[in-house]
Amino acid sequence: METNPDVVVIGGGPAGLSAAAWCADLGLSAVLIEEGDAPGGQLHSINNPIVNYPGLEAANGREFAASLLRWQEQFAFRQMLGTRVESIGAEPLAVRTETGEEFRPSAVILATGVSRRKLGLRGEDELVGKGVLRSGAGQREEAKGKHVIIVGGGDAAIENALILGEHAEQVTVIHRSREFRARPEFFAKAKAAGNVELRTESFLTAIRGEERFEGVDVAGPGGTGDSIDADLLLVRIGFKPNSELLRGLAELDVSGYVHVDVNSETSIPMIYACGDVANPISPTISTATGMGATAAKAIAARLSDR
Ligand SMILES: Cc1cc2nc3c(=O)[nH]c(=O)nc-3n(C[C@H](O)[C@H](O)[C@H](O)COP(=O)(O)OP(=O)(O)OC[C@H]3O[C@@H](n4cnc5c(N)ncnc54)[C@H](O)[C@@H]3O)c2cc1C
Repeated sequence: METNPDVVVIGGGPAGLSAAAWCADLGLSAVLIEEGDAPGGQLHSINNPIVNYPGLEAANGREFAASLLRWQEQFAFRQMLGTRVESIGAEPLAVRTETGEEFRPSAVILATGVSRRKLGLRGEDELVGKGVLRSGAGQREEAKGKHVIIVGGGDAAIENALILGEHAEQVTVIHRSREFRARPEFFAKAKAAGNVELRTESFLTAIRGEERFEGVDVAGPGGTGDSIDADLLLVRIGFKPNSELLRGLAELDVSGYVHVDVNSETSIPMIYACGDVANPISPTISTATGMGATAAKAIAARLSDR
């Protein structure tokens, strides 16, 4: 195995796949390391049709991923799946995996994306598949005749309230702030729906249920407390960047997103970041693949100058 490739790409979502393919196309040797069993990243959790990627439409993220994977097959780069990168070193540049392999590349591209934020309550992970939903759109049939609790106040929370509300007997949305951040048209529809209750200035203090989700305990305005019995729970409280590998090494913003320049280079020379992990403003597939191409082009230019 080559331990000194030109580039190590960390993460096999749209940004990482694009970056590795562009590296190969530009004549650079590249190794892509992805912790999941298959590349594609968040594409695997998109159930909506994808209509906003220029020139390519797909019925859902899995169909889009299949198309992306067919495309990248023509480019020769090494892929290590099921492998998590544990650390990055800057001097000298090094990438270490959890299985103890170490690479000494000329450049690193971090394309580790984002993860859904969690409440941090017991039951949130343990009861997944036992009443705690992973997806509203993908599991809407399960909501038939049920009471669903949704936590969050942005587009994802309210859009899921509308989707699940088509089937559920009742949906209760619990949001910790006074105002909802969701776009006005979603919010207006949710307010008008007869079976959607919107609770503000409230937060969960416990998820109840041992074998199955049974309900939640909620703290409300002015120190009030309440216990709500329900059948299903969906948490949609935003995303956090997977930037731990650069914490203490490169500049991050207050929310942990990686600062990059116009070439997708971080504050550490020859460490690049692309896609959602470096893009709080426009977390989209087209931005991710574009940033991957930018990073590869910039690295190729830098290495040819040496
Ligand atoms: C429900 C939903 C709907 C969406 N709909 C659209 C849409 O319609 N149009 C659109 O343009 N965008 C949409 N998006 C956003 C789009 O999916 C993202 O912008 C895009 O996937 C970002 O790509 P990425 O490569 O930066 O990150 P990701 O897709 O998050 O991929 C990151 C990869 O890095 C891997 N990784 C993380 N840490 C490590 C590590 N330490 N070691 C190894 N691997 C690691 C992860 O396993 C993951 O595979 C949607 C997202 C969601 C969740």
